[in-house]
Amino acid sequence: MHYLIKNSFIEMYPDKELNFDAKLKYSKAFKGYNANVKYSRNKDFFEFRLSYNWKDVSSEIKMGIIQNLFNRVNKTNVKTLNIEMYNIFLKKLTDYVPVTKTDEILEKSFDRVNETYFDNLMIKPNLIFGGKNIQTLGTYSYGTDTIMISKLLIKDLNLLDYVMYHEMLHKKLKYQQKNGRTQHHSPEFKRLERLYFDKDAESKLNKFVRKHKFKGWF
Ligand SMILES: [Zn+2]
Repeated sequence: MHYLIKNSFIEMYPDKELNFDAKLKYSKAFKGYNANVKYSRNKDFFEFRLSYNWKDVSSEIKMGIIQNLFNRVNKTNVKTLNIEMYNIFLKKLTDYVPVTKTDEILEKSFDRVNETYFDNLMIKPNLIFGGKNIQTLGTYSYGTDTIMISKLLIKDLNLLDYVMYHEMLHKKLKYQQKNGRTQHHSPEFKRLERLYFDKDAESKLNKFVRKHKFKGWF
């Protein structure tokens, strides 16, 4: 077993027996600093897959992401210094991820929102449209500094800007850890979100979501 996996596990679960097998793999299939873990129950085997970019990251931060993945797969909520370091790393990272993807419509939306609500101070992230079938209005991914917006929102630029604003707030505020839970929509987030000029935007968006059978947004 890879020593980082072993050390990560022992630190998290000192009373548990280390009786599984595990492997650490770097994968070029991942973008940014994404990672995942697969557990096969019949073999009691964990495969941790980290994007290739992780290769040069320090061991203590790597342990943080491994522990984070252990928490996810074991449905535990163990807190460690490494996880804390990993969270700081992830938040800082966003400022250094290369911006390579953009789209004219999204860029214009970003510029409008940036000027109105962020004094033009926000650095442009990657901006992409999700496929027409994607049932998510928008997402912001920290690891790749990317805002993804549903293509269906092209129909309504006001709602597009509103979703853009929401995702930009994620980029600005990152996330908080509170009582061991990750908080993405903090009270501060919601306060800022309400500053959007169209006070009916939320109900218009709910209508839009129902009409197009979206699952929601993040
Ligand atoms: Zn959100």
